[in-house]
Amino acid sequence: MKAIYLSKGKLEYRSDLPVPVPGEGEALIRVLKAGVCRTDLEMAAGYMDFTGVPGHEFVGVVEKSATPGLVGARVVGDINCGCGICAFCKNGEQNHCPDRTVLGIKGRDGAFAEYLTLPDGNLHHLPDNLGDAEAVFMEPLSAAYRIVEQVVVRGMGALVLGDGNLGLLAAQTLEIMKANVTICGRHRRRLDVLDGTRVNAVLEDELIPGKQYDLVVDATGRPEGAATALSRTKPRGTLVLKTTTALKRELDLNTVVINEISVVGSRCGPFVHGMALLELGQIRLSAMVEAEFPIEEGPTAFEAAGKPGAMKVVISF
Ligand SMILES: [Zn+2]
Ligand SMILES: [Zn+2]
Repeated sequence: MKAIYLSKGKLEYRSDLPVPVPGEGEALIRVLKAGVCRTDLEMAAGYMDFTGVPGHEFVGVVEKSATPGLVGARVVGDINCGCGICAFCKNGEQNHCPDRTVLGIKGRDGAFAEYLTLPDGNLHHLPDNLGDAEAVFMEPLSAAYRIVEQVVVRGMGALVLGDGNLGLLAAQTLEIMKANVTICGRHRRRLDVLDGTRVNAVLEDELIPGKQYDLVVDATGRPEGAATALSRTKPRGTLVLKTTTALKRELDLNTVVINEISVVGSRCGPFVHGMALLELGQIRLSAMVEAEFPIEEGPTAFEAAGKPGAMKVVISF
């Protein structure tokens, strides 16, 4: 099958990979579209030391499954696959299973391929009114929703740092959950996605100097983002960290102690909530797609996604 393959930091298009064989309880899914995200770019730069097919944002059609009603369904899928027997898995927290695999990130080939496999239980039927291009955002949107699972944001003055896809989705999610949201980024064309919403979208030099917020989300994707976010967090406020990078980072823990800051690490969220958010029809997605490339041009798609200010790049099959 056709796929993009990552090995020792080198990304290449290949047409010689075997179609994966689903394990017990797993489905074989034909991928329709897959989104390139910053995590993929970081992985190509060495984060996670991954060898195989990357990609974890996808929409596809089930071709094989033992579960009745699943074959032929258009689906998205939770990317974390737990062992099913540890305490985390039994508690529905397979995100934190120590033996988990993660689609296209850890121990499991991902979505930049014609076919992938996932456990049946990870799959979610897509409603007909959601298009393929919108469904590609389900994973990052669920990750954005994760913030409001962890922090009660209603009425808070919130600052989202970073105008990448996750930042734009987090700002919209916080706003829907009744926070007063400012997003700060480096690219006017990305911030313009939020025109006409209640989110206050500003460039870095337009942010009021020294102003601090109850809740600050670092979605910059940059190593220095966490420190900047901490400097913008009010005493007794909450700092949510979304960025993962290939580089190690430092955070001034004295400030955390002195200002009694709650620091919240935040990763993946439940797809059911991402889906509910999409069905509200209030999240602006179509303006967020930059370009679509066929799988054969996968490495070019990665280049396009890595350009400063680029929106979501989608790979199609
Ligand atoms: Zn992603
Ligand atoms: Zn487990």
